[in-house]
Amino acid sequence: MGYKNVCVNCRISLSEGTNYEFFNRNKTCPNCKGKMYFVNEKFKAPKKSNDKEWKIIEYLLLSGYDFRNPYCGYEQCIYFEFPKNLQEAEAFIREMRKLK
Ligand SMILES: [Zn+2]
Repeated sequence: MGYKNVCVNCRISLSEGTNYEFFNRNKTCPNCKGKMYFVNEKFKAPKKSNDKEWKIIEYLLLSGYDFRNPYCGYEQCIYFEFPKNLQEAEAFIREMRKLK
């Protein structure tokens, strides 16, 4: 298992590998100095020109989703499929929040 840091501003993801020394939840982007989001390696960055997918990713990251799949609560897991639109993304976040 590895991890990545994502900057939605620059639309980049940086692999952080599997070394715990490098795991950093408050990393700043080397490019814009903005906040980076710490995500599971299952995260795949779309092309920079893909506005629609990046908007969805931004929403998911801001909502606290870290691209773990399946996403598990105490008793149940839900599977993530990349949402086709923001409505689907919102529905996923609602399901995710029910798990806690
Ligand atoms: Zn950046």
